[in-house]
Amino acid sequence: MIPREARSHQPPGDHTARGTVRGVGDEKPDLAELEPAELAAVVTALGAKPFHAKQIYRWLHRRGREQFGGMTDLSRSFRTRLEEACTITTPAVTSRERSSDGTQKFLFTLGDGRTIESVFIPDTPALTFCVSTQVGCAMRCGFCLTGQMGLARHLTAGEIAGQVRVLARELELQDTRFNIVLMGMGEPLHNYDATMKALRMLAAPEGLALTPKRVTLSTVGLLPAMARLSEEPWIPNLAVSLHATTDRVRHELIPTSRHLRLSDLITACRRFPLKHRDRITFEYVLLDGVNDTSADATRLAGLLRGLRAKVNLLPLNEAPGIPFSRPSDQQVDRFARSLARGGITVSVRKSRGRDIRAACGQLIVDGGPRGASAPDVLRGL
Ligand code: SAH
Repeated sequence: MIPREARSHQPPGDHTARGTVRGVGDEKPDLAELEPAELAAVVTALGAKPFHAKQIYRWLHRRGREQFGGMTDLSRSFRTRLEEACTITTPAVTSRERSSDGTQKFLFTLGDGRTIESVFIPDTPALTFCVSTQVGCAMRCGFCLTGQMGLARHLTAGEIAGQVRVLARELELQDTRFNIVLMGMGEPLHNYDATMKALRMLAAPEGLALTPKRVTLSTVGLLPAMARLSEEPWIPNLAVSLHATTDRVRHELIPTSRHLRLSDLITACRRFPLKHRDRITFEYVLLDGVNDTSADATRLAGLLRGLRAKVNLLPLNEAPGIPFSRPSDQQVDRFARSLARGGITVSVRKSRGRDIRAACGQLIVDGGPRGASAPDVLRGL
């Protein structure tokens, strides 16, 4: 049985009789949505040996080959059979912009015409792909342009993994090690199942064989989902967007977190399983006069005391429509030093790709339910 989400994005009425595979439903399965075991089931239903699934998976995920015709270690007749019976959906690269600092932003168009962005950051010092998990975001953080769009829809697992597949191919990095941060558009834990499935797909040994150490999932802190994540066999690095040291300020900055107390979030972080020497990253966007006082620095160090934590300070990336400003470099430095004196490991995120709007919180490509159409939002920048 092919899961519903594995079916292709073709609009109704676009199916042909030859697309029907006996035993796997009457829509063409979309192989880009499948984990290895699911792919093996499709291949078997087509009357082929399961090991062919490994070959297809390797072509698709490791080599980025999306045409069955190019999978040259499969027999010609099997390739034809696959073409008739299956489909492979890939986010299409609509534009690619290069920043003066080497960062590159990819705009993708999805099967339903929606658009998302992914960013390649060449030297963090590792190579890093910043990937989206939703079209827009429902969290509505007051300083984030993606948040202002609202949520248009979740991405499927294939769309999340597809961004990585296409970036690796376009950048010719399939045989190079790179990191993935789920810090593009969206809240990954709000789209839990698709995000975790995408990570399993990327981790598969016959694919890119990504290890958990190379992946960082960033969240505003959805507690039930964090508890679920802590039970997973494959747990990525965790980054928690903290952004405030009092409930009042945090609830103002992240209105969807109003039911969540900081103390409960920190308790959940203390419970989160960490492997030897691993730490949770706490992201803290610095907003001038809002959360950057020396009292904030003292409270932050206090909140994190005893936690295996590091703090990543994100001086605000300003944009029209964002009602906050970025503190001066001296103020950022003072805040960082104060945390360090409090015993906290701290780094300041260098903002990358600002000239092409690829920096944190600047990914906004699609009109969301709030009604701001993409061109309107983009014109404002
Ligand atoms: N939904 C996830 C991923 C968001 S993007 C989360 O909230 O963690 C990654 C980081 O960029 C988050 O910490 C987010 O708060 C931050 N961010 C958003 N807008 C920003 C901006 N304008 N300037 C700096 N950082 C920003």
